Amino acid sequence: MYDITLIPGDGIGPEVIDSAKQVIEATEIDMNWDIVNAGADVYAKKGILVPDEVFKSIERNKMVLKGPITTPIGCGFRSINVLLRKKYDLFANIRPVKKIKGIETPFKNIDLVIFRENTEGLYSGIEVKEQEDEARAIKVITKKASLRIIKEAFEYAQKNNKEKVAVVHKANIMKLADGLFLDCAREVAKSYPHIELQEVIVDNMCMQLVMNPSKYEVIVTTNLYGDILSDLCAGLVGGLGLVPGANIGRDMAIFEAVHGSAPDIAGKNIANPTAVILSGAMMLNYLGENKRSKLIVDAVERTIEEGKYVTVDLGGTASTTEMTKAIIQNLVD
Ligand code: NAD
Repeated sequence: MYDITLIPGDGIGPEVIDSAKQVIEATEIDMNWDIVNAGADVYAKKGILVPDEVFKSIERNKMVLKGPITTPIGCGFRSINVLLRKKYDLFANIRPVKKIKGIETPFKNIDLVIFRENTEGLYSGIEVKEQEDEARAIKVITKKASLRIIKEAFEYAQKNNKEKVAVVHKANIMKLADGLFLDCAREVAKSYPHIELQEVIVDNMCMQLVMNPSKYEVIVTTNLYGDILSDLCAGLVGGLGLVPGANIGRDMAIFEAVHGSAPDIAGKNIANPTAVILSGAMMLNYLGENKRSKLIVDAVERTIEEGKYVTVDLGGTASTTEMTKAIIQNLVD
């Protein structure tokens, strides 16, 4: 029996989280879902963005499956997501991006994983407005945080027989901050002589990824570049509805899709549930439930390849509910 904190979130969150819950339960795993919520909806109802019970549940279970959250402007919080990642030191944001058969994309081979530093960089929350017409955002790069995310990327590459790790930076301009991140990558790479370190400047990386993404296997980068490259890579494989993610710390993890609460399609039962379902599969893998995780991934891939029950973003006409049912059907067959 696993105790899991389940946070439905805002917008399409409750719809896609419900799909993921159903699919995970179809693997006949014994789950005790501790359902708590945070975000704009909770704020509108209770006047509080993250009720205490959310923190308590996360701290008790240490394992979270989460829907996207909207942080309303003027509520005193910069971002609930950034807050959770920093509060629980979830330093590694891991986002696998893989081409799924059945989706038309310009590239045949895309199979890469982005390791995004999740606790500092330009998301450190240090912004100052010294005068009416001048604002500053401070980018924080520390050796400690850089080394641990880069090591995580190299360890992943080693375990998964990858030959290359690309460090993405802008050290040619930000010589001190990004220079430190790049130096850390060079230092870590020395311990993995069989893995090639690719050093790529972020603007060049954007071009390389849209021209020849199969050149890359593992990407490690700072917080903001990782955020932007994740969405870019999602676009390469068919959109934000497909890419899962994990925020990993030393003894705690939050699994969530790369996408946000998609207010433009919320409540219409048309959101693609794949990204959150695959985030659930990543969670099962993390828990050591590798067989069940693979069952889910295979069922999702089969459903998309069949193409009969896929959502509008993938060129289909199925609702979220219909696609979820088809995935469950493929899973149990
Ligand atoms: P978004 O990811 O919500 O949406 C971008 C586009 O992708 C929209 O057109 C949307 O319809 C589409 N899309 C996203 N997910 C989809 C899915 N599952 N199926 C089909 N289409 C999908 O990004 P946004 O509009 O920039 O952000 C909306 C809100 O979400 C903001 O408040 C933002 O702060 C929040 N957000 C939260 C998280 C998180 O909780 N981890 C992440 C990103 C954004």
